[in-house]
Amino acid sequence: MAMLLYSCDQGKDLEDLRVHYKESFEKSVGDGGDTLFRKELWCGNDKLSNLFPRLYRLELLPYATIRERLGRVLNEFQSLKSLLANVSLDRNSKVKLRRSIVSNGEFKIFVWRALKNRFPTRVELDKRGIDLHSVRCPVCDGGLETVEHALVSCKFASDLWGRIFNWWKSGAFNNHNIVELLRENNVSSSMSSLGNSLWIAIKWIGVYVIWKNRNIKVFGDKSWKIPVALNEIQTLLFDWISNIVTGKKLDQQTWLSNPVGYLNLV
Ligand SMILES: [Zn+2]
Repeated sequence: MAMLLYSCDQGKDLEDLRVHYKESFEKSVGDGGDTLFRKELWCGNDKLSNLFPRLYRLELLPYATIRERLGRVLNEFQSLKSLLANVSLDRNSKVKLRRSIVSNGEFKIFVWRALKNRFPTRVELDKRGIDLHSVRCPVCDGGLETVEHALVSCKFASDLWGRIFNWWKSGAFNNHNIVELLRENNVSSSMSSLGNSLWIAIKWIGVYVIWKNRNIKVFGDKSWKIPVALNEIQTLLFDWISNIVTGKKLDQQTWLSNPVGYLNLV
C-alpha cells in the first residue's frame, strides 16, 4: 500500500461520502511522535486496537503515540520472550514441574507479573475500565484489592507469610513490600545454595498459592484455610527435594518441623 499524505479537508469530504480515508492509507510514521500506537493504521493490515482487542482493553494509555509506546512494548516483549524460553509445555509431567520449580518459566512469569503490577486484581481491572461491583478485597474486605494488598498485606496473605517465615526460621515477617519479598538476591550467606534456592522457591510458591486461594474464594466461594495453604507449600517443596535427593529415605515430619536443620541432613 502506498504511503500517501492527506489533508483534513479532503479527508472530511471523503468521510462524508462514507469513505474511511484514514483507514485506507498507511501513515508515514516518521519519528512516531504524531501517530497513535494502537488507534491508527501504521503497520499490518489493520489498527492494532482491532488486531489485538484484548491487549487494547488492558491498555492504560490508549492514545499513546508510537514514540511513547514502542520502546516499552518492545522491552516488555523481550522480557516475556526470555522468560517464555524456559517454559515447559509438557503439562502432564508433574515431576518435571517439581524438579525445575526454581527455574520454571511459569513461576517466573507469575512473579514477574506480581512485580510489574500485572495482576488482575480488582483495582487493576477497574483501572482498565472493566466494570466491577466492588474494588475491595474479596478475601478480607479490609481494603482495596491492589497487587500489594492481595499478595502481601491482606490479613490472610500476611498471616500465611508470617507462618512461612516462622517455619523457615527466617525472622519475623514485617509486611515487606512485594518487591522486597520476591527479590531474588534476598538470600542468606549462612545458608547452603540449595537452602537459598528453596527460600526463593518458597516465596514464589507462596505468591502462587495465595493467588490460587484468592481465586478459589472469588470463583468457588470457599473460605481461605491458612494451615492448608501452608501445608500445600511445604508438601510441594518436600516432593521437590525428594526428587532431587536420591539414595536416602527422607522424613517428612522432620522437614515439617525443622526444614533448615533438615537441609543439613540431605
Ligand atoms: Zn484482603
